[in-house]
Amino acid sequence: MTSIVSANGAGIPAIGLGTWQLSGDTALRCVEAALKAGYRHIDTAAMYGNEREVGEAIRRSGVQRDDIFLTTKVWYDQLAFGALQRSAEESLKRLKCERVDLLLIHWPSKTVSIEEQVRGLCEARRRGLARHIGLANFPAYLVEEAVRFADQPLVSDQVEHHPYLDQSELKGELTAHGMSLTSYSPLGKGSLLADPTIVEIAREHGKSPAQVILRWHVQQPMTIAIPRSSNPRRIAENIDVFDFALSEEEMGRLFGLARPDGRMLDPSFGPDWSGGSQKGRATA
Ligand code: NDP
Repeated sequence: MTSIVSANGAGIPAIGLGTWQLSGDTALRCVEAALKAGYRHIDTAAMYGNEREVGEAIRRSGVQRDDIFLTTKVWYDQLAFGALQRSAEESLKRLKCERVDLLLIHWPSKTVSIEEQVRGLCEARRRGLARHIGLANFPAYLVEEAVRFADQPLVSDQVEHHPYLDQSELKGELTAHGMSLTSYSPLGKGSLLADPTIVEIAREHGKSPAQVILRWHVQQPMTIAIPRSSNPRRIAENIDVFDFALSEEEMGRLFGLARPDGRMLDPSFGPDWSGGSQKGRATA
């Protein structure tokens, strides 16, 4: 049903279910609905507070654990060597599983050096806590630094990405290292769905605006998207994007929607996205 992106030894289903802000019974119901609809990739995080429900939904679904690509993340205040591995172990306890398929640094720490963060991540993989490891919210200059310190392959960088936000510079850096880009907030948190260009292309294909945006993501090389919905019908709709294709001209029109102010998530603890500055960052 979904296509698989191959990156540094990992095979990652191109559409996954995002679970941020899904909690309790809603999280349980949505993950079950996703697995029923054919999803084989679920994205959670220690910070989302729903790992117990995600694990429970996987067990209830009847889908073999090995057939599901499960990602979790370590929050930015747990990235010192030792703390990172402990956070991963606690996630596994909540998920009640032996290992995750992908363990990510959720946001780079500004107080722990990139070298130490990456050493902890690689150690977690060596200890079998995760099949694969990767990054989230790392701009190109920090990806370059992380790759330099990693003695295990990094398979993805999960970042905000949608037609209003150009990520071509980062994409170039990731491609150079064989890494995939996982698009979070792939629908711009839902705010792109009424865009006239997207609505027009959707009408031409007899698809929904969400499907057109998700098709735009998965039609790009080495790109994965993790839309979130709390509605089983929309969850199913979001993975039903493999029976049509956008033309080059349509892809170009969607790329043309990028705006300088397209970024929607820029918390104070986040990195400098403007490029290159490592000021204020620990280096040892
Ligand atoms: P999305 O871009 O996925 O948009 C979610 C919104 O779109 C919701 O309001 C949802 O409403 C709506 N929606 C979803 N599908 C449809 C549809 N087919 N038709 C109409 N509306 C739709 O935003 P998120 O910010 O949630 O990002 C997705 C995931 O990315 C997160 O859940 C999380 O897993 C990950 N993420 C990771 C971050 C990181 O730091 N690594 C940061 C942010 C997100 P409804 O529920 O009513 O369907």
